[in-house]
Amino acid sequence: MQYRELGKTGIKVSVVGFGALPIQRIDEKIAVEVLHKAFDLGMNFLDTGFRYSDSEYKVGLALKGRREGITVATKSPARDKKGMAEHIQISLKRLGTDYIDLYQLHNVKDMENLDKVLAPGGALEALKDAQKEGLIKHIGISSHRKETLFVAMKQGFVDTIQVPFNAVETDEIEELLDLAEETNTGVIVMKPLAGGAFNNPTAALKFILKHRISIVIPGMDSLEQVIANAQVGTMETTLTEEEQKSLDIDTAQLGAGFCRRCEYCLPCPMEINIPQIFIWESYVDRYNLPEFARLRYQSSSKGVDNCIDCGKCESKCPYELPIRKMLARAGEKLSQK
Ligand code: SF4
Ligand code: SF4
Repeated sequence: MQYRELGKTGIKVSVVGFGALPIQRIDEKIAVEVLHKAFDLGMNFLDTGFRYSDSEYKVGLALKGRREGITVATKSPARDKKGMAEHIQISLKRLGTDYIDLYQLHNVKDMENLDKVLAPGGALEALKDAQKEGLIKHIGISSHRKETLFVAMKQGFVDTIQVPFNAVETDEIEELLDLAEETNTGVIVMKPLAGGAFNNPTAALKFILKHRISIVIPGMDSLEQVIANAQVGTMETTLTEEEQKSLDIDTAQLGAGFCRRCEYCLPCPMEINIPQIFIWESYVDRYNLPEFARLRYQSSSKGVDNCIDCGKCESKCPYELPIRKMLARAGEKLSQK
């Protein structure tokens, strides 16, 4: 395994870390086995989330007796001080630890959300208090939209940013990496495999590792994935001709019709949560979780049949996606019993 500096934190992290969202769907015993395998193969960083149902708890089980040397990152969607302080305490309890290495502001998607975090009584105050008390070591931010990451780095209140980046999602990445380098901010890459959309995951990871990022954290829920991903962390990052070709084909195919979850299309006048519907669709297509996705979709009150065909979403989508057609297709899959 190769290691890189995580920005100004002083921590050396494995270039491939463990994305712990998918362990929600496996049982405790297997989750622990999978995480231990990752640790054994040199992965020394894991990222979970307050919102990832029982992921923090399962991570906590795996950390028993293995806490030392592991950088534990989690994140909370709280935007106010009180909520964030509560979430930090709950995360500590679930993770079974008395400190968390990196606590991140989860998905700060726009300036309105960032303003809430930074306002008096905002979540940042709770993070700073927790840092003073030694409950958390470092503060980070994650977002699908780069606007807030630029501001956070410029203002200097974060040690790390977490950003989606892969061969089909490259917009503004060089500018972001320039600023990260300038401000010595660690760069954690999420969604490296675009939800399983790449036919050659090794090529997809190598492509990312060629860049000036600190760590890439593919989500994992099996020993096979851990072994394959850890292997990439030992490799030269130069892509073979065959790997490049596979990536080019995937990029060409995915490039046109791929929702990046940036949420620019919102709000929809009928309150349809467009990117969420595409996420559920990906649970059917790529994550083999059709029952879970259908249950969530069918119990939401704002299905695609509420669409009034106004087209407002499409005029706002920076990727010019045919959202209405895509929603109709997703709705069909998600409405099945
Ligand atoms: S076209 Fe449908 S989904 Fe798009 S904004 Fe209008 S109502 Fe919402
Ligand atoms: S549909 Fe377009 S605007 Fe909406 S989240 Fe996806 S990529 Fe962004």
